[in-house]
Amino acid sequence: MSQGVGGFGGLKPLEIIGDGEQALAAPVGEPVEAVDAGRTGAKVVIVGSGPAGLTAAIYAARANLEPIVLGGYESGGQLMITSEVENFPGFPEGIQGPELMGRMRAQAERFGALIVDIDVERVDLSERPFRLWAGGVEYEAQTVIVASGASALWLELESETRLRGRGVSACATCDGFFFRDRKVIVVGGGDTALEEALFLTRYASEVVIVHRRDQFRGSRIMQERALAHPKVRVLWNSRVVEVLGENQVSGVRLRDTATGEERDEPADGLFVAIGHRPNTGVFRDWLALDDKGYLSVHEETRTRIDGVFVAGDVHDARYRQAITAAGDGCRAAIDAERWLAEHGLAEPATMSAW
Ligand SMILES: Cc1cc2nc3c(=O)[nH]c(=O)nc-3n(C[C@H](O)[C@H](O)[C@H](O)COP(=O)(O)OP(=O)(O)OC[C@H]3O[C@@H](n4cnc5c(N)ncnc54)[C@H](O)[C@@H]3O)c2cc1C
Repeated sequence: MSQGVGGFGGLKPLEIIGDGEQALAAPVGEPVEAVDAGRTGAKVVIVGSGPAGLTAAIYAARANLEPIVLGGYESGGQLMITSEVENFPGFPEGIQGPELMGRMRAQAERFGALIVDIDVERVDLSERPFRLWAGGVEYEAQTVIVASGASALWLELESETRLRGRGVSACATCDGFFFRDRKVIVVGGGDTALEEALFLTRYASEVVIVHRRDQFRGSRIMQERALAHPKVRVLWNSRVVEVLGENQVSGVRLRDTATGEERDEPADGLFVAIGHRPNTGVFRDWLALDDKGYLSVHEETRTRIDGVFVAGDVHDARYRQAITAAGDGCRAAIDAERWLAEHGLAEPATMSAW
């Protein structure tokens, strides 16, 4: 909360590292680390190093399963592009997103997790051990925990990227609190955008929804609620073509989609609510997807393939929070450990391991 609107703090993504500096500053994308360590096979291979993947790694490592985390090039996940996280329990003063992820990583490594910051390019889940390929190295896994997260969709404007974390956000639940008595703009026209807009009315003095069409795509009930709210105003047929502001958002430049006319709308914050894309790519041929394109959970954290578990935003279109992803990672690791024990592949963990 110290610098500028919303405590976004004028931080560039990935700039602040904090206590986890060593881990986060380590060279990334070196599959050779795993090869050198003689570890390209594991009882548990975790795909993704966001809150879900790293929490799964902490639990699996403490249960002596020596997990390998294929953490992706975007090591640390979505919280690496935010600054202040104020709703993760245990940090009453808040914590910077990259610092929180650095701490989770250090905690997983302390118990023996091997983390390789590289994307999985291909998997073969047809038989056990399952096989995963990343950076030219083949990994074998008795169980796999898929924690590959989701990516918020952005407008893809240079000014938007520059001002991310400086008034530009993709998460009202996370950042709405910073906009008390401020004017914010929400971009989008589906249920997510309407929900975000209504949520923001709790804090903001005014919420302007910018939508490129002349009607919403969201459900009727959400439309009625949004349109009837005294703090909500809608700008139809409008597209954001630039986010204004040097170090902090001061407004947006809008283009009328019918006439092409441009004008500036002042605002303190911009919430981009045009959807999320779950990172299901390499698993799509193997695991079922729901109607929104997220991975389907068969039972608890199990998928339809025995021995493959799922955690976090890659299956969760509803909550999308660090704490729910972390909770899921814990559940998936416990389920994987029990599965291994049931199949005689691991000693049953004592409760103290958890
Ligand atoms: C701007 C912003 C601010 C936010 N602020 C907050 C907040 O204040 N509080 C809060 O609780 N939540 C916040 N969130 C939401 C929170 O970040 C997510 O809910 C959470 O990170 C989800 O965790 P995850 O582990 O499921 O996935 P992610 O964090 O998305 O991590 C996914 C991981 O999978 C990896 N990956 C993807 N594909 C592959 C592949 N093929 N191979 C290997 N690895 C792969 C990625 O590199 C990444 O490491 C915010 C989100 C955004 C975008």
